[in-house]
Amino acid sequence: MGVPVEAELGKVGGKEDDGPAVEGESPYTDPAEAKEFVERTGCTSLAIGVGTSHGVYTSDPHIEQSVVKAIRDAVDVPLVLHGTSGVPDEQVAEAVKNGICKVNYATELRQAYTKGFMAYMAENPACFDPKKPAKEGMREITELVKIRMTNLNSVGKAE
Ligand SMILES: [Zn+2]
Repeated sequence: MGVPVEAELGKVGGKEDDGPAVEGESPYTDPAEAKEFVERTGCTSLAIGVGTSHGVYTSDPHIEQSVVKAIRDAVDVPLVLHGTSGVPDEQVAEAVKNGICKVNYATELRQAYTKGFMAYMAENPACFDPKKPAKEGMREITELVKIRMTNLNSVGKAE
């Protein structure tokens, strides 16, 4: 149908939207399995399990860079990192250098939005127009995205 499809293979920890959490298995995507998966599904990009986790981290995150490289060598579609919120920028930048093409931050952006929204409502408790606190939420997101884009060297690269 000409629709780009981003698939996720392996065990990105935590919980994505309403999907079930996967626990007790190897946290890493197997490079050979990734190759076969991409070939058989024709997905246009692939999110991989390299140690990140959806949601909020309860222990220090660690990206297994050797797995990123091995999967990069095995498949030819863009690789995606999920569960990036809370991962130190240096680790993410290293993963980008090793072959990650797209980095997903969901939790951090939700937190930023909520922070702006709540701050506005605390200052303006009589407000009943959600557009006003929503604007503050978007402002917080914009600031965070600027920081992440700068730290990951992705400013000015849109085509
Ligand atoms: Zn995911």
